Amino acid sequence: MNDTVFALSTPVGGAITIMRISGPDSRALLQMFFTGRIEHRRVSYGRIVDDKGETVDHCTAVFFSAPYSYTGEDMAEIFTHGSYAVAKRLTEMLAASGLAVQAEPGEFTKRAYLNGKMDLAQAEAVMDLISSTAERQRRAAQLQLEGRLSAMIGGIYDRVKASCALLSAAMDDDTDEIEYDEHAASAETALIKADIDRMIEGGMRAKVLREGARIAIIGSPNVGKSSLLNALICRERSIVTNIPGTTRDTVEESADIDGIPVVFIDTAGIHETSDTVEKLGIERSEREKENADMVLLLIDGSRSISEEDCAIIKGLDTQQNRKILVLITKSDLPQLVEADAEALCGLDAIRISSLTGEGMTGLKKRIAAAIAPDERDPALTNTRHIALLEQAAKRLGAASEMLKNGETDIAFLEMRAAMDDIAAVTGREDPSEDLINSVFAGFCVGK
Ligand code: GDP
Repeated sequence: MNDTVFALSTPVGGAITIMRISGPDSRALLQMFFTGRIEHRRVSYGRIVDDKGETVDHCTAVFFSAPYSYTGEDMAEIFTHGSYAVAKRLTEMLAASGLAVQAEPGEFTKRAYLNGKMDLAQAEAVMDLISSTAERQRRAAQLQLEGRLSAMIGGIYDRVKASCALLSAAMDDDTDEIEYDEHAASAETALIKADIDRMIEGGMRAKVLREGARIAIIGSPNVGKSSLLNALICRERSIVTNIPGTTRDTVEESADIDGIPVVFIDTAGIHETSDTVEKLGIERSEREKENADMVLLLIDGSRSISEEDCAIIKGLDTQQNRKILVLITKSDLPQLVEADAEALCGLDAIRISSLTGEGMTGLKKRIAAAIAPDERDPALTNTRHIALLEQAAKRLGAASEMLKNGETDIAFLEMRAAMDDIAAVTGREDPSEDLINSVFAGFCVGK
């Protein structure tokens, strides 16, 4: 752990490459290779020279004295030209110095965690931030990085801890001086569980930020599914033709809709067919419809509603907790689908034209509003956190029942175990090495 480590923090091939060094020998290494001044937090210009005095590159470097660095250790960052040859040479020189070894994936952030610069949830947020592509993903990661999620989890932990302390004192009290109200304790434990459940529920909605919402585009052949997909992603991807049934299989495309990552699935025209290839496509689209977070059901506005349209509408399970939006397409053409048809099965409907773009801005806003998570609280987006809190909630639910029945001893054990689960989210209270390693295993080298 106290070794000095180094790693490239940027992919080679850009204009600039950053070599990061962290650990007690960071200063000595800079002194060995870098000709510029070495001063805490000051960027200086100089050259990288090898042991024969040959200039490897002109560069800038910055040095951070412990503990005022990302890792909490002495650290250096060297900014060289983004050359593969320079990066290779510098890597060889650092390795040959005998003072430093290659960093493991995520090692800089792991050291930041071990040195108390951030907790586990914040460290994971660093990774989320790096991989964020949509604006709201970035915001959720930033809130978690700032410690807002950790503060919420910490609050819950403290409440369970207080309940445990009270119960423990009552169990240790041989003189019966402490009056322990099992029913009040049971109620408080149930309240904590409910708060955790709420966090998990919010997290399920926030899941779309991490994984992207899956939105299925369905409707009978030729209603304009492929055209809509192309209009939404502004690219030609699906084959658009006027022969029914040309989208034989499902087509997936990612897009950023109002800051939310979305995966659109253009399903094959859902209709009865004898063609085997098309049949396979249709089966798949039926499945996609089931798995989607949201369904866009298209009805061709330029012709009257067909039996097929009705069958598709009937096939939609509106009871399921999935959002359905009806789109009356081709609004640029004379409309045969009457206005009252918009009240189809009591479903929301809007008119759009993929050709002219009419209604598209409104559609994107409607999609975002339907799937966006509540952003007031920091979101529970990490599956590891969700699994731990689900387990804690389960234990607290059981403990609440046990307390009601006066089974204080086993209730105490459940509550203690719940405390460990909650603590593992942020890594407070001595997490195991396995836990720490598993969190950082998914990181990239140089972070
Ligand atoms: P799909 O079978 O549901 O995927 O439908 P397509 O996207 O392939 O479109 C079927 C036909 O309708 C094509 O000839 C498109 O050019 C046409 N079409 C699709 N959207 C519109 C629209 O908004 N306005 C007009 N006028 N034609 C459209």
